[in-house]
Amino acid sequence: LSELSQNPKENGMHSIRIIGLDADDTLWHNENIFEQAHIRYRRLLSEYHDAQTLDEALLKTEKKNLRLYGYGIKGFMLSAIETAISLSGGRMRTKEIQAILDMGKEMLDHPVELLDGVAETISTLAESHRLILITKGDLKDQQSKLAKSGLSQAFSQVEVVTEKNPDAYAKIFQRHEIVPAEFLMVGNSIKSDILPVLSLGGAGVHIPYHLQWVEDCVEETPEPSERFMVLDSLQKLPAILKK
Ligand SMILES: [Mg+2]
Repeated sequence: LSELSQNPKENGMHSIRIIGLDADDTLWHNENIFEQAHIRYRRLLSEYHDAQTLDEALLKTEKKNLRLYGYGIKGFMLSAIETAISLSGGRMRTKEIQAILDMGKEMLDHPVELLDGVAETISTLAESHRLILITKGDLKDQQSKLAKSGLSQAFSQVEVVTEKNPDAYAKIFQRHEIVPAEFLMVGNSIKSDILPVLSLGGAGVHIPYHLQWVEDCVEETPEPSERFMVLDSLQKLPAILKK
């Protein structure tokens, strides 16, 4: 992974006063919970179809329903039931539908597991910068995860948006009177956390997570520049921002 100069004057991060932080797979583990759910789902429906057919059909249903359900576990549960009904040709049993609902409830109830060093790093960053949590998904679920994380005190603002696109970030900038040149977004998704912010004149730090939902992948990562870098851990951020 490439890293720019440790000197903030050289890496263009010296003007940063406000840091936006993504939540899922940036502060706490999330995609691994979905991965476990997919494994259970394949097992549950193995008498009807093979794993690949199920995965493809489920993804197709989720994409189709995003417009109506948005991101999050509740939408995933409904799409999983819809896919199961359709792939079983209507032979799906109520106990299997119950198993999908139970699986979704367990996902919603899952303990929040912070990534390594996140608690310490967030409290360090909060001493020198204004922190805003910016996440997409289900309002209730994201608020409950933030409460369980023990991190909420560190954030001046929390933004749960339906989509992380330039328009959504522009509205956040407006609401909180943020000058893009002073704003850095940190997250695991190039598509949602980095590209829209760079396009508005903000800076980005990409911290890849080992798993990523296919719909959140982009083909190309921007070249490292004054305003963009890749780190392998959030723990490295305070040193990079230090004057
Ligand atoms: Mg994320």
